[in-house]
Amino acid sequence: MPRTKSLATLIQHYGCERVFEPKTNKIPIVYNILNREIFNNRLKKPYISIRRIHGALGLFEFNPYATKHCYKITLHNKFKNFQEFVEILGHEMVHYYQKLVMKQNSAKHNKEFYSFKKKFKKIGLELKRIYR
Ligand SMILES: [Zn+2]
Repeated sequence: MPRTKSLATLIQHYGCERVFEPKTNKIPIVYNILNREIFNNRLKKPYISIRRIHGALGLFEFNPYATKHCYKITLHNKFKNFQEFVEILGHEMVHYYQKLVMKQNSAKHNKEFYSFKKKFKKIGLELKRIYR
């Protein structure tokens, strides 16, 4: 991964034809860019885990009774390409924002969710409910 802070450069670097398998130690680079560009750095560091998920590419979970991680983002272990990975991470981060900042009880694909669509577009990303 190039040592750049630009998302466009990263997306260009990986291209759109290569399958992307996220590694835990590389996720913060992308997470921090999205947090800065889309969420004004208002998100904290969540717990992110990578595993094979059936029927989804990402999940956001909130568990107030968790002893360690109340906020958790889970990502699928394989994406069509790097861009898809970034879009899914961004999608789950919107749910995190809905919960953490907007204090919404159920993070759904509502009006507030789609209010981020413009900011996504601005940096070349799509915000959708379902990606495949
Ligand atoms: Zn969602």
